[in-house]
Amino acid sequence: MTKFSDLYLAEPLQKALAAKGYEVPTPIQAQAIPPLLDGRDLCGIAQTGTGKTAAFALPSLHRLAASPRPRPPGGCRMLVLAPTRELASQIAESFVEYGKFMRLSVATVFGGVPIGKQIRQMGSGVDILVATPGRLLDLIDQRALSLKNVEIFVLDEADQMLDLGFIHALKRIDQLLPAKRQSLFFSATMPKAIAELGDRFLTDPIKVAVAPQATTAERVEQFAILCNQTEKAALLIMKIRSEPIDRALVFSRTKHGADKVVKHLKASGIGAEAIHGNKSQPQRERALGQFRSGEIKILVATDIAARGIDVGGVSHVFNFELPNVSEQYVHRIGRTARAGASGIAIAFVADDEKAYLRSIEKLTRIKMEMLPLPDNFLAEKAKLPKPAPSAPGDERRSDRGAPRRHDGPGAPSGEKRRFAPRRSGSVGAHKGAVRKVGGR
Ligand code: AMP
Repeated sequence: MTKFSDLYLAEPLQKALAAKGYEVPTPIQAQAIPPLLDGRDLCGIAQTGTGKTAAFALPSLHRLAASPRPRPPGGCRMLVLAPTRELASQIAESFVEYGKFMRLSVATVFGGVPIGKQIRQMGSGVDILVATPGRLLDLIDQRALSLKNVEIFVLDEADQMLDLGFIHALKRIDQLLPAKRQSLFFSATMPKAIAELGDRFLTDPIKVAVAPQATTAERVEQFAILCNQTEKAALLIMKIRSEPIDRALVFSRTKHGADKVVKHLKASGIGAEAIHGNKSQPQRERALGQFRSGEIKILVATDIAARGIDVGGVSHVFNFELPNVSEQYVHRIGRTARAGASGIAIAFVADDEKAYLRSIEKLTRIKMEMLPLPDNFLAEKAKLPKPAPSAPGDERRSDRGAPRRHDGPGAPSGEKRRFAPRRSGSVGAHKGAVRKVGGR
């Protein structure tokens, strides 16, 4: 078995890995790190949970440190593009951790926070910049940032980028990058449109594929319960009370739906928070922090907001509604059963969702075990407290007109609609957007 010590990574990286207790590289790390250290381009089929962040962060940090250069003013040496703010923050966090014994700086830029401080931070340049595409182009358009010094470029979660409508942004970014560079391209799935996008960025890439989607599904015990839509909140409360839950993610199809679920849970004394595209950045960070620390056991999320959430110990995934895209289901249940552990996924299936259930089973080639409603369901349901009625002006309105798949953070339409009018005048500070690894 390959060990990290066999991979010829620089000593400060070995030290950081030892501090984290990582000894054995995951399959994608073992396959990707050697060619990446040689400077090859890479096309990777891998989803979160496979260790792909370290697969690109470790060799990149090694190469940047091996050829030290001053930070380019108004630029960066490495650019990582991620589809959502959460994922961008987590990737940056990983760079900070793996590079903590090196002297490289890491900055994160994404929409939804004032741009002023980000503009100032770009002035002196950074080594590693992790960005969402919309805000990156905003900074370029404001002449605060140039990509001409990029030595290493990573595009992460390409399939999600396309789902979020970032294709034009990516094509523009491609033209702004220098021709001579190392490029890495990751996607959980590789249909034709994504492979074509990859061709645009990559030159003679090494191809690495790990954990095809169906194998995630095989590790998760999957159940489905038939019920009416109006019964789902009560069913969730009863299941949360009866299952041995460490941490559970509840997936809702809409932002408003996620808020409603939280209200029901809270009314029954169950600590829960929601994260979705309408929550402010501090609200999302607070909810994630509470979930991570165990202060709340239940996090209710929309698909896009949940992408890239890296919280270990999720024992249960509840599909409050089934997604209409089957691959999304596999992403959802992949939030449990990480790193070889097994998990439990329970889907609540209303009549009009039965077709989704069938197409999911076709994709995963696994038949879900049908569970009955809990004993005395209707009598127990009648005993549950009702949540307080919504205040006028609640978040229902902000859901209207937003296409379902574009409900995520960093969604280009949302980002533009919400933030463009403030663009010219907005100056402010986003705390902690640039962190130094070590320090210079
Ligand atoms: P990722 O797929 O990059 O989101 O990583 C999934 C999780 O696995 C993260 O919590 C990483 O910190 C963790 N991880 C990555 N590489 C290793 C490794 N070689 N050994 C143990 N855990 C790892």
